[in-house]
Amino acid sequence: MEQKQWGVYVHIPFCRQKCFYCDFPSFAGRERYMEEYVRALCQEIAVRGSSYARRWGNPATIYIGGGTPSALPAALMEQLLLAIGTVFRPADAQAEFTVECNPGTVDAAYLAMMRIHGANRLSFGVQSFDDGLLRRIGRIHDGQQAVQAVTMAKAAGFSNISIDLMYGLPGQTLAQLKASVGQALALEPAHISIYGLQLEEGTAFARMQEMGKLELPDDEAVEEMYDYMTEVLPAKGYERYEISNFARDGLASRHNLSYWQDVPYLGLGAAAHSYLEGQRWEAVAGIPDYIALIQAGRRPCEPEEPATRAIAMEEFAFLALRTAAGISRQQFQQKFGCSLDSVYQKAVQRLSAKGFLIDDGDAVRLTRLGMKYGNWAFEEFLLTEEE
Ligand code: SF4
Repeated sequence: MEQKQWGVYVHIPFCRQKCFYCDFPSFAGRERYMEEYVRALCQEIAVRGSSYARRWGNPATIYIGGGTPSALPAALMEQLLLAIGTVFRPADAQAEFTVECNPGTVDAAYLAMMRIHGANRLSFGVQSFDDGLLRRIGRIHDGQQAVQAVTMAKAAGFSNISIDLMYGLPGQTLAQLKASVGQALALEPAHISIYGLQLEEGTAFARMQEMGKLELPDDEAVEEMYDYMTEVLPAKGYERYEISNFARDGLASRHNLSYWQDVPYLGLGAAAHSYLEGQRWEAVAGIPDYIALIQAGRRPCEPEEPATRAIAMEEFAFLALRTAAGISRQQFQQKFGCSLDSVYQKAVQRLSAKGFLIDDGDAVRLTRLGMKYGNWAFEEFLLTEEE
């Protein structure tokens, strides 16, 4: 058997209510499907999961995301964790097994149960500790629940905890953001992710914006918030290893890094994406559709249109540029059989001249300025089909 570096993603498409900014594949009010969904998911884990585990050995990382995995009742979460534990064992001492949690959905017993069944990392969608702001963005928890959830998780034996924070929210001030960052730091998580609000089509916020009912901080205020976070977190010992992600003590998320580093992953569940043997796959998003396909013994996912060589190069460049390690010349050469400079020399020169890129000969990586204006930098890495 070939021992390969690979990851597993498991998607839970349920949420108690839909946050006003969210366009992820998740649904509120579909609790009636939970039991059947978990049964189908366990079947997919036993069939597709086992087949890859037999060929490639155990995955380096497992990530249960959503949606809100912790919206599953404890008995269903336990059933899922048992199914995962039956098929996949930790690949090594650093094997990472993350569960995304909403602070409003966990208690001490739930957290202890997940720890017993092998989860060793939790990612809490906190977003803010400000109750007014949390209500305004449609979150179901308050600041106190977030503090309690992280404290209980530590007591349950989780030392690797991540907190997500958002900036640029309606009505958010720099002072509020500073208070939330301060509260997050006081909880001493291993990892902090920061996300600027994006107005996505089909969300409640996008509709409010169309009706002129959404008051967002202006660009200058958002920039101040971004600058504050990207300065204060490294100063407090959180290394910025990716545009939006900071970790202390080397506890960068191995799973997320694998997405940016071209490592294969198997996605299980509705709407899950996979990247296997150079091919991307996407599962059906509808919960009943997914259940029906699994019950009929059919594969719930279809291969995406294969990427052209130019698109594959762009994707590789974009993903690698997000990380502090940047684009490795050696990896580019290995993957595409040609040098990075034969394709991107001009882009690298132009962006280096603007102070957006550092080129150390082995790799090219974004500077702090480059990360701030990442979208402009990425545009330079777009190719025409002839390139
Ligand atoms: S909890 Fe997460 S996945 Fe669910 S609606 Fe809110 S942001 Fe989206």
